Amino acid sequence: MMDTLVETSFTDFSQIPKKNINEAPLERNCSVGRTVSIIGDTWTFMILRECYFGIKRFSQFQQILKIPRTTLSSRLQLLTEKGILHKVSYNSSTTRFDYRLTAQGFGLYSVMVSLIAFGDKWLSGSNPPPVQLFHRSCACKLNPIVACSQCRREIKSIDVNYRNGPGSGWSNIDPERVKSRHSHFYKSTESIRPSSVARALSIISDRWSFMVVRESFFGIRRFDELQTALGISPNILANRLNKFIQNGILKKVAYQDAPPRFEYKLTAMGHDLFGPFTAMLEWGDQWLSNNKPPLILTHLVCRNDFKPLVVCNHCGEVILPQQVRYEMSYKNPVPF
Ligand SMILES: [Zn+2]
Ligand SMILES: [Zn+2]
Ligand SMILES: [Zn+2]
Repeated sequence: MMDTLVETSFTDFSQIPKKNINEAPLERNCSVGRTVSIIGDTWTFMILRECYFGIKRFSQFQQILKIPRTTLSSRLQLLTEKGILHKVSYNSSTTRFDYRLTAQGFGLYSVMVSLIAFGDKWLSGSNPPPVQLFHRSCACKLNPIVACSQCRREIKSIDVNYRNGPGSGWSNIDPERVKSRHSHFYKSTESIRPSSVARALSIISDRWSFMVVRESFFGIRRFDELQTALGISPNILANRLNKFIQNGILKKVAYQDAPPRFEYKLTAMGHDLFGPFTAMLEWGDQWLSNNKPPLILTHLVCRNDFKPLVVCNHCGEVILPQQVRYEMSYKNPVPF
C-alpha cells in the first residue's frame, strides 16, 4: 500500500441493496440529487439568474437570454410546478403573468453564488471573472464561502463527517432523471455571454457526474467501489472519471504496484466543489425532504451537527440577493 493515510468512508457496502437486472434501478436518497434534478439544466439556471436581477416577464426572459420560445415556456412551467416561481397576473384579463420568486426560489440564491465562486476561481482561465460581486452590508468585494451554522467558521470538505439521517435509504430512480439533460448551451454562448454559473454547471450538472463527485466527498476512491455504490455501468463510470481527470476535478493515484491499481482522488479544485455541493444539499434538505434529511453532517472542528451556510467571507453574514451588487468585467448588458 503506497497510501498509508486511512480515511474512513461513510458508505457501508453491506447495506447497498443488491439489484436484480429486471428490477427498476435504485439510488441513494440524496438532497443534492433532488436539487440537481430540478436545476441542473443550464437554461433553468440561467432563467433563475435573471429572476434574481428582477426579470419577471416572458418577453423579457426571451429578449435577454435569446432562448427559444418553447424552451423558455417549458422551463418556466417546470420552475412553477416545483414551487420555485409563482405566476401573478398583472392585468385584469389575467392572461398576462409575472413570474416571481417564491421563498423556495430565493433560497436557491446560495446555490447560485456558490457556483459563481467556484466558476470564478477555477474556470475563468487567465481572464478576470465575468462579474465581481460586492456585499452591500459591509461594502466589500464578496467571496462567498461555506460556514458552519454552529461555530460560523469556514468549512473545508475534509472537516466534515457524514452519517445517515432520518430520510436515508434507497429509492427508485426518477425516470425523468435518467434522461440526460446535460446541455451544451455553455459552449455555444460562452463567447457572447461568459458565465461562471454555466461553466460550473457544465462540469457537474449531468446526473452521473455529480453522483461521482458526491461519492468522492464520501471518501469513495476506487473504481469497483464507485461502481457498487452507484450501480453505474463500467463504461459510463470510466467516461466520467476520465472527464474529471481532464478538467482537473480528480487525479488518478496509484495505490498498488503489482498489479498496478489506482484511486481517484479529489484535487484542490475538486474539493472546492464542496461549496456548491453543500449549498444544494441544504436547499434540498429544506425544501425537498419533508423534514427528513437523508444525510447528517458533523463539523469535525466544533464537533456539532451543522447546516452549511453560504456567507460573506468578510463579515460572515448569510448572503441575500438584495444585499449583492454586481460589476461586470466585459461589455454586455447581461451580468454573470
Ligand atoms: Zn466587508
Ligand atoms: Zn462548526
Ligand atoms: Zn459582507
